[in-house]
Amino acid sequence: MNAQRISAGFADRVLRDEPMARHTSWHVGGPADVYFEPRDIDDLAQFLLTVPAGTPLHWIGLGSNLLVRDGGLRGVVIATHGALAGLKRESENRVYCEAGVPCARLAKQCVKWGLGPAEFFAGIPGTLGGALAMNAGAFGGDTWRHVVETHTIDRSGAQRWRPASEYRVGYRSVAPPAEEWYLAARLSFEHKPEAHADEIRALLARRKQTQPIGEWSGGSTFTNPPGDHAARLIESAGLKGHRVGGASVSTKHANFLINEGSATAADIEQLLLHVQVTVERVHGVRLEPEVRIIGEAR
Ligand SMILES: Cc1cc2nc3c(=O)[nH]c(=O)nc-3n(C[C@H](O)[C@H](O)[C@H](O)COP(=O)(O)OP(=O)(O)OC[C@H]3O[C@@H](n4cnc5c(N)ncnc54)[C@H](O)[C@@H]3O)c2cc1C
Repeated sequence: MNAQRISAGFADRVLRDEPMARHTSWHVGGPADVYFEPRDIDDLAQFLLTVPAGTPLHWIGLGSNLLVRDGGLRGVVIATHGALAGLKRESENRVYCEAGVPCARLAKQCVKWGLGPAEFFAGIPGTLGGALAMNAGAFGGDTWRHVVETHTIDRSGAQRWRPASEYRVGYRSVAPPAEEWYLAARLSFEHKPEAHADEIRALLARRKQTQPIGEWSGGSTFTNPPGDHAARLIESAGLKGHRVGGASVSTKHANFLINEGSATAADIEQLLLHVQVTVERVHGVRLEPEVRIIGEAR
């Protein structure tokens, strides 16, 4: 991959060999060949035109659901956080939100506008783009329940608006068209004049009681299997506190794997596999990762 060619006209704005550990909530991950933060949608479309055909493109929001391996990422990383930051109310109950907007900001703004239910977004430490990709949800709410249409871009810079009905959406899963990424979405909420910031505070406090908030993790590592909870299965398999290198199974919430400070991505991935194999042996249930594992091993 010719990073020199990619950056033509963007030379002083791309980062080369950028450690992904700086951009993921696990604080692990090797270097990305090229790392680019667009200024806005037009800038991003221009940049994409300079990327040679076939170069892998990786999109990242706040990196809160990503395990990037220690050998890093070949190709180009497009970072939306801090870039695609537009958020406005378009009508009584419609909101236009760009992909780089943190979910917490969306939650707070909806409360100010008297719209809801959007409080659940406050506990998701990612961007709207990541939430669209994952159908992120919490406390009974999920992202796609509110999506009216998406604004997308492909690698040629072509932009489209797609109605939500064109996507197959499930629990923490969305099937988007291949090689098309989110720029923004129109979201619909109910009029909720009694919405109050106290609800967000209460929700975050509940989270803090049950989850290792503040520690380095990727949130829930596995999706919940039908009718059960991954955390319950992991805990009853005796895995709480189990360690590989600098990574451990949280003693507070067994579905969280913690980087205690010195973990490599390989430690975390090995621990994840150990948990998966052990739970399958003990309970006969195969847990599926919710976190996305990408990149090359060292
Ligand atoms: C402490 C903690 C608590 C968490 N709690 C929850 C929770 O309650 N509920 C929940 O659902 N999740 C939770 N998560 C997981 C995570 O926050 C969500 O999955 C979130 O939506 C990821 O957003 P992100 O911006 O960090 O995405 P990233 O981790 O940066 O990316 C995740 C995926 O989305 C893709 N992506 C990102 N932006 C775009 C884009 N613009 N277009 C297309 N694809 C894109 C990436 O390529 C990647 O495949 C938690 C994580 C942590 C660390």
